[in-house]
Amino acid sequence: MMYQERRNGLSYYRFASLDSTLVADAIFTRQGGVSDIPFDSLNIGSTVGDDPHNVAQNTALMFGALGISADQVVTSRQVHGRHTARVGRVHGGTVIPDCDALVTDAPSTFLLMRFADCVPVLLWDPLHAAVGLAHAGWQGTLRQVTAAAVEKMQDEFGAYPQDLRAVIGPSIGPCCMEVGPEVVALVHDALPDAEQVLSSLNPGGHAQFDLWQANYNQLLRCGVGLIETADYCTCCHQQEFFSHRGSRGRTGRFGAIIGLR
Ligand SMILES: [Zn+2]
Repeated sequence: MMYQERRNGLSYYRFASLDSTLVADAIFTRQGGVSDIPFDSLNIGSTVGDDPHNVAQNTALMFGALGISADQVVTSRQVHGRHTARVGRVHGGTVIPDCDALVTDAPSTFLLMRFADCVPVLLWDPLHAAVGLAHAGWQGTLRQVTAAAVEKMQDEFGAYPQDLRAVIGPSIGPCCMEVGPEVVALVHDALPDAEQVLSSLNPGGHAQFDLWQANYNQLLRCGVGLIETADYCTCCHQQEFFSHRGSRGRTGRFGAIIGLR
């Protein structure tokens, strides 16, 4: 179950599958920041054309709402790939290059990524006290970055997939994710469940691509024991979330954060 919290004028979502006494997680809405149209208002993307001062102020507001400091936060330059990185306290305040999944077992080290339709996947291993965060747009989904994040937690922390809890956060839903014949072909090449995650083709050869189901199935194939899906489309809820597709590319990015308390 997804639930909303508000602090310092910011609103963010949390998830019942992640024990809030042990895990600090938040998917921020776009509300409560200082940026102007089309980045209104809590934009934390620094590569979208927004004023860097506003981005810095928004980022500080976000950290303030969670009571964390910038030197405790690790982020990455997201490139729609499947490269993963294990990070620790020493990486606080840094940006990991070219990486779409981060994992850590260090307490008070918070993983941050930026989204506007791509799927945020939050991972928690209660047994080994470790967390992960993956960025899975359609390209990352085809490259199976979510599975790569689970495998990284197995390799680094000895996680058993059946113990893991996963959250598929707010992101573009099958309702709004129409893809053309080229992407349809790529899905068939990349995924064993293409028939399930694509709708039947319309006369123009387009189909709806269900990224939620694709990532759910990917987690299932890894053996992940508990999977929560927010079932909340960013493109259908543009008052609350930035949507790349809904805004035809001119928009901000919202933050997803997870860490061990
Ligand atoms: Zn939608």
